[in-house]
Amino acid sequence: MTITPRIHRMTKQRQIILDVLKKTESHPTADWIYEKVRQEVPRISLGTVYRNLRVLKEMGDIQELNYGSTYSRFDGNTKPHYHFVCLDCGDIMDIHVPVYTELDKDAAEETGGKVEFHRLEFYGICSGCIQ
Ligand SMILES: [Zn+2]
Ligand SMILES: [Zn+2]
Repeated sequence: MTITPRIHRMTKQRQIILDVLKKTESHPTADWIYEKVRQEVPRISLGTVYRNLRVLKEMGDIQELNYGSTYSRFDGNTKPHYHFVCLDCGDIMDIHVPVYTELDKDAAEETGGKVEFHRLEFYGICSGCIQ
């Protein structure tokens, strides 16, 4: 093997970060991911987690969900899908309804542009907070 220890370590850390994200449906923040990854890699820094999240996003392995707040949420599910955001507790859930690809055509027709994808967020109160 000619892989240098440094590259090997980076790749392993990235894999752990990806595994953490694939195993949750909670759409966590970078801080939450950092706390989880630290259980396996105690000496990892928050900066390293951020850097690897950026790489994973660029490679198309994860999605970054920006809600206009100061922090992003991350999603290990890269297939097109919609989200329900609880206005009370801030939980973000996947909604397993068909993605309306016809909307892309309508939007492209109206704008004369080319639609790559669309995002749809439902906002409300989750069942846990209603109770
Ligand atoms: Zn809630
Ligand atoms: Zn999702």
